[in-house]
Amino acid sequence: MSSHPSTLYNFSPGPAILPREVIEAASQAVLDINGSGLSLLEVSHRGKEYDPIHEQTQKDVLELMGLSPEEYSVLFLGGGASFQFAMVPMNFLPREGFADYVNTGEWATRAIAEARHFGRVEVVASSEAEKFNYIPRDVKFHDDAAYLHLTSNNTIYGTAWHTFPETPAGVPQICDMSSDFLARPMDFSRFDLIYAGAQKNAGPAGVTLVIIRKAYTARANKNIPTILSYQTHVKNNALYNTPPVFSIYVVGQVMQWLKNLGGLTAIEAINRKKADTLYAALDGSSGFYRATVSRPSDRSWMNVPFRLPTEALEKKFLQEAEAAGFVGLKGHRSVGGCRASIYNAFPQAGVDAFVGFLAEFARKNG
Ligand SMILES: *Cc1c(COP(=O)(O)O)cnc(C)c1O
Repeated sequence: MSSHPSTLYNFSPGPAILPREVIEAASQAVLDINGSGLSLLEVSHRGKEYDPIHEQTQKDVLELMGLSPEEYSVLFLGGGASFQFAMVPMNFLPREGFADYVNTGEWATRAIAEARHFGRVEVVASSEAEKFNYIPRDVKFHDDAAYLHLTSNNTIYGTAWHTFPETPAGVPQICDMSSDFLARPMDFSRFDLIYAGAQKNAGPAGVTLVIIRKAYTARANKNIPTILSYQTHVKNNALYNTPPVFSIYVVGQVMQWLKNLGGLTAIEAINRKKADTLYAALDGSSGFYRATVSRPSDRSWMNVPFRLPTEALEKKFLQEAEAAGFVGLKGHRSVGGCRASIYNAFPQAGVDAFVGFLAEFARKNG
């Protein structure tokens, strides 16, 4: 048996921490779904055990977002958020048209590369020259773009749009919300299509949530494979083929958990406090720790990347942190350093304990 500290705090960027009660409910559902004597893993996706799970999850997602089920559909697709990078332009980027993209990080870069397989992309703003450490201001979008694409939270670099930019009326808006989905209230209705891989903030890997305005699907390209058309999935209420039922069940439990907490206003207050606590500790360390995003209004509340004075110290820090029970802190392989991901389910107690560890390590090694 491996030995580890009795309390572990999981800072993993994704797959990431889930509420303990959700993991317990999921374990139970694998053994016996709602007293049926059957495992969730062995029942039909069109049967009486699964039916209510599908419907309730869709209903709760929209309720939390303040969107109406008459206007929007909730789809449960495979292939991760990366799949949406290709599916979005396949459906909505006409050969003769173009789409506006804002490049705020690695995932946005990949979304742009995929869109270029289908048509023209205008990168209307990019923070790449500054290593993506800020959110562009005063972005000028085209009023004749087929759509515009944003990434609400940049998981690797730790920036976020806390206020979305002004955009021209009539241009459909699409957003990758994988790493801050349902972390705070926002005007979701400005978007025609929102997608989020569940494994950061909404559930386990294996399902990507797509929230799409039904009327928008009418504009989709008709000349594409059935399975890749949003229209197919909307028409079939996300049951065109077998959806990832276990992952959807866990997402449903996370939605219940969020509702019980008090919804997005409640989770916003929790997330704001965690982020404030952590950034204050980094900023107050007399430069021993340096948050890589300096402008407070651009800082992510979900992913907090930071550096130490040397790479050798970073290595030591990560080792000692892990031994003390703070796991998943290594920065993304493309940028190095450290990153604390503090998604919805991450507790304030973990941030408080970690802040104590930060101070202690700085005192010993500063
Ligand atoms: C993790 C992530 C992705 C990629 O998600 P996959 O589900 O692994 O394809 C895309 N966009 C953002 C913002 C992410 O954080």
